[in-house]
Order: sequence, then C-alpha cells, then structure tokens
Amino acid sequence: MADIVVIGGGPSGLRCAERLGQAGRSVCVIGAEPGLPYNRMALSQHLAGDYAEADLITHDGDRLARLGIAYRAATTVLGIDRDAKRLALEGGEQLPYRELVLALGSQPFRLPLPGAGLASVLMYRTLCEVRAMLEIAQRGGHAVVIGGGLLGLEAAVGLARRGMRVTVLHALDRLMERQLVPFAAGLLARRLRSQGIAVELSAASIAIAGEAHATGVVLKDGRTIACDLVVMAVGIRPQTLLARSAGLAVEHGILVDDSMQTSDPAIHAIGECAQHDGQCCGLVAPALAQAEIAARHLLGETVAYRATADTTMLKIAGAGVWSAGDIAADAEALVYDDSDGGEYRKFLLQDGRLVGAVLYGETSEAPWYAGLIGADISSLRHILPFGFAFASQQATAA
Ligand SMILES: Cc1cc2nc3c(=O)[nH]c(=O)nc-3n(C[C@H](O)[C@H](O)[C@H](O)COP(=O)(O)OP(=O)(O)OC[C@H]3O[C@@H](n4cnc5c(N)ncnc54)[C@H](O)[C@@H]3O)c2cc1C
Repeated sequence: MADIVVIGGGPSGLRCAERLGQAGRSVCVIGAEPGLPYNRMALSQHLAGDYAEADLITHDGDRLARLGIAYRAATTVLGIDRDAKRLALEGGEQLPYRELVLALGSQPFRLPLPGAGLASVLMYRTLCEVRAMLEIAQRGGHAVVIGGGLLGLEAAVGLARRGMRVTVLHALDRLMERQLVPFAAGLLARRLRSQGIAVELSAASIAIAGEAHATGVVLKDGRTIACDLVVMAVGIRPQTLLARSAGLAVEHGILVDDSMQTSDPAIHAIGECAQHDGQCCGLVAPALAQAEIAARHLLGETVAYRATADTTMLKIAGAGVWSAGDIAADAEALVYDDSDGGEYRKFLLQDGRLVGAVLYGETSEAPWYAGLIGADISSLRHILPFGFAFASQQATAA
C-alpha cells in the first residue's frame, strides 16, 4: 500500500507527488484522464500547431519510476470512506490510504442551453477535447467559440491557425474583462479581427441548433450563426463532488487551512479544487505553490501558504497581453498609450503601491512588473511605464 494517495494527475497532483517521492515516501497518483501526465497549459500551443502531442507529456514512465511514483491513469475515484481510509475506484476496486491528497482541479462550465449536449459542442480543458477539436478542424468549416476570456481566445486563434473560420461570441461588451482594462480589450478585439477572427461583443447565446451535431448557435437577437464546431469556454467550477459526498467541509471549493489540510487531518486539498482564505485559484502558479506546501506539511514541516497576486498572459502568437493584480481597483492610474504603435501600459497605484498592471504589446518585462505588485513604487513612478531596462539605465546614470 502506498503511504500517500494523490487523486488527480494534473500539475498540482504531480508536483506534490514529486516532492513526496523525492523525500522517499511511497506515493500513488490516480488520474481520471487516459495516458501519461501532460502540460495542460500548453494545450493552446498544441491546438495552434506549435507543439506536437508528444511534446505535451511532462512525466514519462521512466521519470515516474525514478521518482517512485505509481501512476494509475484512466481511473476515476468514485468515493472516499474516511472511517475505513479507503477509496472506491471505478470498476469496484477498493484502495486503502494512510494520507490522501485531493488535487481534483476544476470542471469547465457547460452553459445550460438547449442543444448544449450535442456532439461537436466541446469544452476546452483536456487533451481528449483538443483531439476532438482537431479532428473536426481537419475538415475545415466554421467554429464558434462561446466566451471571449483567455481560454476562449486561445481556442479561437488555435482553430483559426488550423484553417477554420472562427467567430468568438462574448456576452459582455469587452474581451477578457477580468484581466484587461476596456482600452486594451478594444485593441485586442481589433487585432483579432485583423487576423480574420470575427468578434461579436454583447452577443448572448441562447441555444445550439442541430440534431445530432451542432449546426448553429442561436443568439438572443434572433440570428443563428451556422457552424460545424462549438467550443464553450465560459468559466470553470472547482471539482468538489467527491469531497462533498465524503462529508468534508466545502464551500465554493474544498476548505483548507494554511497547510492545505482539509477538515479531515488525513486529507489535504490543493490546486483549483481547494479554497484557501476564501479564494479558489484558477492558475497554475498558485496550484503548484499549494502542492509544495502540502508536501512539506506531509513531511512534517510547519508551513503556511500565502496567496500572491495573480498574473495572466495570453499565449497566442502576435498578441502580447499580460495583466497582474487588481486591475479593477479604484486607484490612481498611470497610463502609457502608443496604441497606434501597438503599445499600451496601465498601472494602478494605491498609497504609492502598485496594485495592478496591464501590458499590451511588449510583455517581455512582465516578470519585473509582477515582482513590483504590492511594493511601494513612489521612487519609480516617473519611469515605471518604460520598463526595467530604462529604469536601470536611469539608476546607473544617476
Ligand atoms: C487550455 C488551457 C490553457 C491554460 N493555460 C494556462 C496558462 O497559460 N497559465 C496558467 O497559469 N494556467 C493556465 N491554465 C489553467 C491551468 O491549467 C490550471 O490552473 C491547472 O491545470 C490547475 O491544476 P490542478 O492540478 O489544480 O488541476 P487539473 O489540471 O485540472 O488536474 C486535475 C486532475 O484531476 C483529475 N480528477 C478529477 N476528479 C477525479 C477523480 N474523482 N478521480 C480521478 N481523477 C480525478 C482530472 O481528470 C484532472 O486530470 C490553462 C488551462 C487550460 C484548459
């Protein structure tokens, strides 16, 4: 029997298992998805044709063996018997555990529209879904992407690069409203349109037309946009069903303390399924940081997870878009605007501290700005928009 069982073969589950394996603990990772663990974040580059499927694999059999990780793919855990410390696996097997880590991730939200269950209406989360998109894209045709957030836009650009005509439908009046200020969102919409992608804002979808396969998306304004593929990218929900049925404390996500321990001391939860200090994460960096904390706690250290400001980067060719921190803050704004030249930067300041930043165009200095979030930048404010290289030149000249 493995000392520690991790449920979920995504980045947080694997990172936690790696750390435990490196410390000599016997670990078993159980993942519902088929095949070897892969880089979910690089699915967009794969969809766009920049990465082959084989390049996505993060842990092959040798690496897993070297780390001492037993990996069971295509295996869904259906139940947790906390009194007996046993898992019920799909197929009837019972698997005992001493310590359990839940790294269950999120599930994409399927809009409850008539026709949403038709074949060729796909979510954007897994390699299997990308395979299905690529199969349809081989035949060309028209893809409608519902959702103009980060994932929807990455899907749209990928499908366009695979030769499909693409329309993005976004219910709100600007793209990526959680990451971008309106001006930068407008620049992005313009750039996508110039690449031949149709972008429809304030476009509410009310049904998917079709018999077995989707043939169109019906909009509230009465139009139907004919299509061969619908991709829904309208948000995610933490996977909590397993934890809830086992009687663990759950709100939006599975409740954890600073050491990522759930309401049961023998069970930790990490990554997108966990709720720490009122927040569920939706990005890989915090998921990995939580995995490190849980592993260290399981190894006997006293640790405390502290959330840091989220940063997001759109990974599509030709569109440098990055944001960090709170871009909706009611705060003083410093703006650098050369939108005709493809550059726009906005920084939000509260009491001399940088609380949010948006870069559109050149994003290579994003890590420098990310490190300044929360810091007092009063002495830098006159040079802040010009970046690290310029700031260091000024410091050397002074
Ligand atoms: C296309 C795409 C691009 C992305 N790009 C970025 C990016 O550029 N930057 C960024 O920060 N984030 C990005 N993300 C988000 C990032 O992938 C997630 O934040 C990260 O994967 C979360 O890791 P996780 O381990 O919490 O969950 P997941 O990666 O979702 O892994 C959870 C795993 O648990 C399995 N599981 C769930 N329930 C069970 C069960 N009962 N039994 C067995 N297995 C189960 C699931 O099948 C899944 O494989 C992207 C996401 C997608 C879909």
